[in-house]
Amino acid sequence: MDLRSDAVVLFGVTGDLVAKKLFPALYELTRRGRLDMPVIGVARSRWDHQQLLTAARKSVLEAQGRVDDEVFDALARNLTMLSGDYADPDTYQRLAEALSAAERPLFYLAIPPAVFTPVVDGLAGAGLAARGRVVVEKPFGRDLATSHELNKALRAAFDPERIFRIDHYLGKEAVEGLRVFRFANRLFEPLWNAEHIANIQVTLAEGFGTEGRAGFYDRVGATRDVLQNHMLQVVALLAMESPADAGDDAYRAEEIRALGQVEPLSPATTVRGQYAGYRDETGVAADSNTETFIATELRINSPRWAGVPFYLRTGKLMPSTATEVVVEFKTPERNLVPGADAAAPEPNLLRFRLGRHDGISLSVQVKQPGAEVTAVPVELPVDFDATLGHRREAYERLLDDALDGRHLRFAREETIEQEWRIVEPVLDLPEPVLSYPRGSWGPAEAQTLAGRWHAPTT
Ligand code: NDP
Repeated sequence: MDLRSDAVVLFGVTGDLVAKKLFPALYELTRRGRLDMPVIGVARSRWDHQQLLTAARKSVLEAQGRVDDEVFDALARNLTMLSGDYADPDTYQRLAEALSAAERPLFYLAIPPAVFTPVVDGLAGAGLAARGRVVVEKPFGRDLATSHELNKALRAAFDPERIFRIDHYLGKEAVEGLRVFRFANRLFEPLWNAEHIANIQVTLAEGFGTEGRAGFYDRVGATRDVLQNHMLQVVALLAMESPADAGDDAYRAEEIRALGQVEPLSPATTVRGQYAGYRDETGVAADSNTETFIATELRINSPRWAGVPFYLRTGKLMPSTATEVVVEFKTPERNLVPGADAAAPEPNLLRFRLGRHDGISLSVQVKQPGAEVTAVPVELPVDFDATLGHRREAYERLLDDALDGRHLRFAREETIEQEWRIVEPVLDLPEPVLSYPRGSWGPAEAQTLAGRWHAPTT
């Protein structure tokens, strides 16, 4: 493994992502003795040192409910602030001076995508890119062409081995757990194909709206915000073939191959929605056609998945906040035991809960008590927190990995470009989005897309 970075530079230190995720991650890394190095916050805002510390403490408190003074003081001793304009070379000169003792700084771009390229150019101009690593946030471009451009700009400044593209789903224990579930169990892999699986559903539901970020969201929409990245990443993990060996490279190669077999999404099997009242929010165009909901059917052109639809849906102001995969198995070939009210028993469902209350649940048929021999489904649930204990937050794991130069949990260039290829036909469709009531599962048209959607269990 490469040497660990010896300084962190957070561009956009005054922003939402740093407050919500990165300060708590830095604090946890400090607690575990993984971050005794300078941490420089950069922003246009002229914050002094005290403002920086106040913001950091507030975000740790909000994330964890309490602050351990000893840990926080250790972090605070490393924190400094640098204010400047991203278009001004002087900003990068001052940064270079502040980093004169650092041999391998890590630059985290927690800034709007429009400023990624100017900052990367500024770092290169000051000679900082040559010895640093860079972490880039999503959205990675707006489409295939712009993501390609961004990759080119990054590669012009940084060695490919030093570029880290965040898809924070890859840092989630439960998402990584899909790999373990599939390849460490003998039980399901023989059934993991078109012969036994009827369909796979992926729901990423947010019970909240744009949370004060409507201006940002209106330029992005649900497809770019989560479908192109998080949801397709999950599809790749579900659909991939067994890797040739246990190494990271073989694993990522299969994931990219699986995405390569996904057919581009079709507008004919896609429903886009917008929640009622969205256009009245500050920062949203009065005639906005941005989707806050999308449901679509995805097909994979491989022998394993021939004829098996993957139904994906995501939206804001849904009935709950949950990310859940439901694998619906086919019912038995011969109907020897009917279901309680139906001619056929219910299908077996395997659920992966990937959100906050992560876990797995398998529904199986058992005998319905009574004189008749009929089947009734029961759940075999596992709650990971209760069973396995507390696991580390995705951003903490990702930051730790990037500091070590470890790529496994970061999206590859090819992965992102395949993802854009898949969603491109449904980006910016001219047809008007369909309105849906707040707190519903989207427009009525989406309900009939899958024969039967399985609602998340959390
Ligand atoms: P913000 O909108 O909060 O912006 C971050 C900071 O960037 C601001 O505090 C501001 O600081 C600076 N900034 C804003 N506009 C400009 C501009 N036009 N030019 C230069 N600087 C600007 O962004 P977030 O923190 O929400 O997101 C940062 C990155 O992370 C984005 O790429 C976003 O897509 C991504 N992301 C965010 C998530 C979130 O939950 N917030 C989740 C996943 C990804 P100042 O004015 O002080 O310089």
